[in-house]
Amino acid sequence: MLQSQVIACRLCPRLVEFRERVATEKRPRSREETYWGRPVPGFGDPHAHLLILGLAPAAHGGNRTGRVFTGDPSARFLMDALYEVGFASQPTSEHLDDGLVLRDAYITATVKCVPPGDRPTVEESRNCRRYLVSEITLLSGVRAVLALGRIAFEGYERALAEVTGKRNSLPFRHGAHYRLGQGLPDLFASYHPSPRNTNTGRLKREEFIAVLQDVRGYLAGTSMAQL
Ligand code: SF4
Repeated sequence: MLQSQVIACRLCPRLVEFRERVATEKRPRSREETYWGRPVPGFGDPHAHLLILGLAPAAHGGNRTGRVFTGDPSARFLMDALYEVGFASQPTSEHLDDGLVLRDAYITATVKCVPPGDRPTVEESRNCRRYLVSEITLLSGVRAVLALGRIAFEGYERALAEVTGKRNSLPFRHGAHYRLGQGLPDLFASYHPSPRNTNTGRLKREEFIAVLQDVRGYLAGTSMAQL
């Protein structure tokens, strides 16, 4: 239901025009492919304890393949690390039918349509927040949220505020782990695994895996506490 609402959404005229134009123009090496060209919903385990939150689909990643973090360099970096730590069934995420299964994890984005320059406007982010709010409400087993980048981090704070009525304004810092309060997931932060971070050495594979291991350790601890 939520997925079909997201996929049919046309609330943001600029993003509708952009996602469809990218899907028509394509990039040279994908000329023969049919692009998705629509909003990209989240995917993964609906009973997940971990919610991973990115900024938005990539023009020739999620907007091409129809699955967030699929078919682009960010996806390769992310899925390799998730596989290493046991949150994914395979180290690659290339297309919708590649057999990838997320284990105890769900991935989505704060904005479901690709924005020009990876920069949604304030109004576009506000428009799309309703879907993240719904995901937060539906994913009732989540005990940890990993925000990839500052925009996702702040987007989660704003969406959570709509659910709880209370707004946190915590500083974004790579490697941070925040307790948000009783009954709420803990919030973890990492730099986004985009090429501009991974190719420049700002985010190294081992550093990202260390963040995922922190999350894994936290989830294991909360499971033990419930025994
Ligand atoms: S960004 Fe979100 S609200 Fe805007 S058109 Fe896409 S799905 Fe709809």
